[in-house]
Amino acid sequence: MTSNNDILFERAQRSTPGGVNSPVRAFRSVGGTPRFISRAAGPYFWDADDRRYIDYIGSWGPAIVGHAHPAVVKAVQEAAERGLSFGAPTEGEVLMAEELCRLVPSMEQVRLVSSGTEAAMSALRLARGVTGRDLVIKFEGCYHGHADSLLVKAGSGMLTFGNPTSAGVPEDFARHTMVLDYNDAQQLEETFARVGDRVACVIVEPVAGNMNLLPATPEFLQTMRDLCTKYGALLAFDEVMSGFRVALGGAQSLYGIAPDMTVLGKVIGGGLPVAAFGASAAVMKHLAPLGGVYQAGTLSGNPVAVAAGMTTLKLVQAPGFYEALSAQTARMAAGIGDAAREAGVPFCANSVGGMFGLYFTADVPRNYAEMMKCDKAAFNAFFHAMLDAGVYLAPSAFEAGFVSAQHDDAVIDATIDAARQAFATLR
Ligand SMILES: *Cc1c(COP(=O)(O)O)cnc(C)c1O
Repeated sequence: MTSNNDILFERAQRSTPGGVNSPVRAFRSVGGTPRFISRAAGPYFWDADDRRYIDYIGSWGPAIVGHAHPAVVKAVQEAAERGLSFGAPTEGEVLMAEELCRLVPSMEQVRLVSSGTEAAMSALRLARGVTGRDLVIKFEGCYHGHADSLLVKAGSGMLTFGNPTSAGVPEDFARHTMVLDYNDAQQLEETFARVGDRVACVIVEPVAGNMNLLPATPEFLQTMRDLCTKYGALLAFDEVMSGFRVALGGAQSLYGIAPDMTVLGKVIGGGLPVAAFGASAAVMKHLAPLGGVYQAGTLSGNPVAVAAGMTTLKLVQAPGFYEALSAQTARMAAGIGDAAREAGVPFCANSVGGMFGLYFTADVPRNYAEMMKCDKAAFNAFFHAMLDAGVYLAPSAFEAGFVSAQHDDAVIDATIDAARQAFATLR
């Protein structure tokens, strides 16, 4: 019997490049047919054959309170009835800006946009406009969206495809971006000693989630903070993934390091397109209409999207939310690790807050090069065994996983059981 997923994928490939609207969805890395999702609820989604999966993608992070949470759906419905978009300011945007600045105190002001790509791109332009410098430093394996100056050896889908850069990015743009090694404080110091007075901005994922899960060391981030201060460069934490995912105040609250700029997305939209970038009022005043750095958006701060985001932000502030989410995620990572050990498969797992990493290697990787040594073939076999057992992991060895507050004990136990059986097939 032919699967509806196969039929849809066949059709999709005729009307859309690769049959998908974002590359990693295409299963190119793991092989096989992507599942076309028809609906989702709590920790589950269902494909076009009405087969149920425990979902660990969570829309790549936003579904932190579980899919189709009744409070979020209700807020969206009510907002939609009041009108979809106005192109004029709303009270909801004020409340959201206030809430974000309260929860992430390194920001005094924010601007709302519609995607993480747009937020990171705008933050870079602002940093360049404020400092009057062009040079940007990023780190190999970190992904900051697909703006031209950031597609220089980017991670995620790019890693999977093994392309160091994208076609179509002028070399002249790439020349203004330096790519250094993640978690290498010494290299950063040497680089600043050479070019520090030309650096507009250092942008980093403080807990990297686009080369699998890879937390920065505290020394690395502290060195970065000190060097940016010393040389007058702006430090931008890209917390599109880690924000409201690893802790309520993002990775910056875990490390106790305040960046000059913060980039947010994913969770803050609760499944609809909201992202943001923020900084001190002194930095943000350089943005139009106050200052000379231009930035705009027809659907920025969209009322329906803001309603989803604000409701999600309210839900994650329930007492003990992150303690429970972190404990559940850690329990799952440990359980899968134990299952691998029983099966004698070289493997380890790690988690930070509601994010986890599964590594087919004997030790937890500390940098990009170590991450690349993971056994991709073993991951792919594991991925498909899990999929067959009804567990949907990210379809790449180099993506992190996401747990929601609706992944209860029974769901986690079912996942660990599936992993035990999957590892048994790998021996
Ligand atoms: C997802 C992501 C982005 C890009 O966000 P989009 O909404 O997909 O454009 C940027 N930075 C990080 C760290 C991300 O995880």
